[in-house]
Amino acid sequence: MIRGPHDPRAVAVVDPGDAAPVMAALAAEGLRLEAILATHHHADHVGGVAELVAATGARAFGPARERIPVAVEHMAGGASARVESLGLEFGVIDVPGHTAGHIAYAGHGALFCGDTLFSAGCGRLFEGTADQMLASLDALAALPDGTQVFCGHEYTEANLRFAAVVEPRNSAIMDYVKRAAALRAEGAPTLPSTIGLEKRVNPFLRSRHEDVKSAAEYRAGRSLPTPVAVFAEIRSWKDGFR
Ligand SMILES: [Zn+2]
Repeated sequence: MIRGPHDPRAVAVVDPGDAAPVMAALAAEGLRLEAILATHHHADHVGGVAELVAATGARAFGPARERIPVAVEHMAGGASARVESLGLEFGVIDVPGHTAGHIAYAGHGALFCGDTLFSAGCGRLFEGTADQMLASLDALAALPDGTQVFCGHEYTEANLRFAAVVEPRNSAIMDYVKRAAALRAEGAPTLPSTIGLEKRVNPFLRSRHEDVKSAAEYRAGRSLPTPVAVFAEIRSWKDGFR
């Protein structure tokens, strides 16, 4: 849920998979839902959109190239989702890979990236190619280091277990493992992360790093000459990692 700078009672939500908790929060805090930002078509991200639009009249923004179960304002890379009543405007970035038409929203020092970038991980390649996903992650990594990263899921601890296997000598990962464990033990989220932190710990943003390349080549049993080949190997390694 995003609160705008003008009116503390006017809010937007990102990827409401379920309307009920949003409606409960609106009622509990006396808030008015002005806008919904959807990143991709999966039900756990858009399952609540139709009900929320019907109940509140909020404007809904969604990916131009995907089918969402309610009419939305179609957004594609380079467009911007402007919510005047909230005083907010988010630039849209095309980030295909997890799904074919996945988009992310960036603005006001924040990134809402759905299932493209997770803290210390990335989304599975359900509809896109490794090439596309690496380009999408590179586009997100190009945002300023201080950008707060609001991912679609809290998968940080599981992702860090994998990251630590890929890069056992990376002390930033080891520090983050401890910090994430402490936060989760208190019932607190690890999110938002930041682009700067992700560049230090996320193996999927580090396909060009020598240690990540060596680990991927060792697992593949052959040389991996390009960052895409390294990325694809790390992604398939993670798919089978428990
Ligand atoms: Zn998804």
